[in-house]
Amino acid sequence: MLADSPPLESPLDAATAILRRTFGHASFRGLQAGVIEEVLAGRHALAVLPTGGGKSVCFQIPAMMRPGVGLVVSPLIALMADQVEGLVQSGVAAARLDSDTTLDERSAVWRRIEAGELDLLYLSPEGLMQPNTLDRLTRQKIALIAIDEAHCVSQWGHDFRPEYRMLGRLAELFPGVPRVAVTATADARTREDIRGELQLEQAREFVASFARPELRLSAERKQGRSDKRVIELVKARPNRSGVIYSGSRDGTDRIAEALKAEGVPAVAYHAGLDRKVRNERLMHFLNAEEAVMVATIAFGMGVDKPDVRYVIHADPPASIEAYWQEIGRAGRDGEPAEGITLYGASDMAWAMRRIDGREVSDTVRMGQTRKVRQLYGLLDGMACRAAAVRRYFGEEGVQACGQCDLCLAPPESVDASVAAQKALAAAQRLGGRVGRGRLADHLLGKTKDVSSTEAALSTWGIGQELSPAAWRDLIDQLLFEGLLREDPNDGRPLIGLGDADAVRAVYRGERVVSIRKPVEGQGAPAGRQRQRRRGAEQEALAPEHHILFDALRAWRRNIAAEQGVPPYVIFHDRTLGEIAAFCPATLNDLAGIGGVGQAKLDHYGLMVLKVVREN
Ligand code: ADP
Ligand code: ZN
Repeated sequence: MLADSPPLESPLDAATAILRRTFGHASFRGLQAGVIEEVLAGRHALAVLPTGGGKSVCFQIPAMMRPGVGLVVSPLIALMADQVEGLVQSGVAAARLDSDTTLDERSAVWRRIEAGELDLLYLSPEGLMQPNTLDRLTRQKIALIAIDEAHCVSQWGHDFRPEYRMLGRLAELFPGVPRVAVTATADARTREDIRGELQLEQAREFVASFARPELRLSAERKQGRSDKRVIELVKARPNRSGVIYSGSRDGTDRIAEALKAEGVPAVAYHAGLDRKVRNERLMHFLNAEEAVMVATIAFGMGVDKPDVRYVIHADPPASIEAYWQEIGRAGRDGEPAEGITLYGASDMAWAMRRIDGREVSDTVRMGQTRKVRQLYGLLDGMACRAAAVRRYFGEEGVQACGQCDLCLAPPESVDASVAAQKALAAAQRLGGRVGRGRLADHLLGKTKDVSSTEAALSTWGIGQELSPAAWRDLIDQLLFEGLLREDPNDGRPLIGLGDADAVRAVYRGERVVSIRKPVEGQGAPAGRQRQRRRGAEQEALAPEHHILFDALRAWRRNIAAEQGVPPYVIFHDRTLGEIAAFCPATLNDLAGIGGVGQAKLDHYGLMVLKVVREN
């Protein structure tokens, strides 16, 4: 044996070398190494890693190391295009086959597969399962099959895609090929579905913590229509990218218009738009460093823009799963970001009503109703939001996050049982014929043009001790607790009594109704407080580095435009931030910065050093 022969390299060492050389990251994070080892050993795996947790390298690196081409099934063309573009930038032999690929491109891709030159091939589920694609692929050496967004296979999850069901057949079609299912959202039930549907019973499971320490969460009850508040929130966060979710197509158009009128570069996005328009707007958003996307939930899955600094729900999400996934689109680069949710009792009433209107079994209906209650319990709750989400997903021993609105300013509660009794009695006497505002007016004895019958009721004017706003708040509280119920009544909601047993318990004094102590001044304290903060990523960067950071971004903007790719495909903000802070003088120094792999060093290294020298 030669004295200088290197010690035997383990598969994981080889994987780490690729992580450094190709992707520019120093070491694996979280469960990445575990998943990679499993797949390199030729075994199946199921990995649940939070958004931004770095799921992609879990299959990309093994695909590069194992002989043959790695197949990646992904639900959305936009997502594939982005990932493939990013890989090519990093010098990886990757390609995609989807409905946008031209015939010429297709034959070029097949040539590369058949010559054994390709490491990664991205396909849609229906594209992969086409008989002649399968026929050609089964004759090739396949390194692994990765199924991205695997929760789409489960009807229990919230993004069910029927075409994902076909993927179960991959087990027989490609025996002996390791399959790895990855997703950012899967409770125990969904994970079971994934295993069953994808024939992954034997797969080892890797479930990471759902913590997203870079996300600052907050939620506010709506004060009337949320548009005005949304615009305030956006204007307080200039020069960054954000996503606003609205519950309706109209809402997206309305909010986008209002933002544009204020000089904010906003675009609306929903399924009612022409495909071409939608695509243009998506591209605009992805390519911009500062853009606001106002969208329905038609926008989102697979949108991997890493530098989204906030997600605002102008209307609340459908469930805690949806909340975490939608909010999770902020801060994917690991830099601080915000998730702000506006919600109201009427939204809850609508959600309940929609469930009632569905043709589903009673068990499914009960399950869905419970999910809605849990969501509003979280939004309107009094304790750490991040901890509540993590517990919901089954994590144990969870600590408070210390940075959500409720951690920063824990609300005090006061006993409002007597006022609650009055409100319930009034709602009962009025027999479900009035809305929230009229109910408050009745309690205050201020109803305009009051009828003599209403004025004769024993509850008329018995609530002088509270302000109109305080009554509306209390009525909301009673709605959230199910003590009152709202009938949406086609946009003119009516308030009636809720659960009879619970109402009786309040009347008898057996059930206490607490409300949050009203805060000084109107509006949400945490939101206001935050308005004065700078962009967190800039906060972290010392002022003397801002000029260089901006210059690097300007350079990146040009390069990206030349190549027609989004700026983050060149370098993430996080990488530019590190460069601005460390001012590397040599290629070697630059190589030490996170996100700078060999290919990017070769392509851009000298240009970046020049920008650093000149600024
Ligand atoms: P997701 O799990 O949401 O699909 P990605 O795979 O897109 O996440 O990765 C999210 C970000 O984390 C990317 O910017 C990626 O470059 C970065 N990343 C992945 N793995 C590592 C690592 N081991 N160290 C540092 N950054 C990493
Ligand atoms: Zn918290």
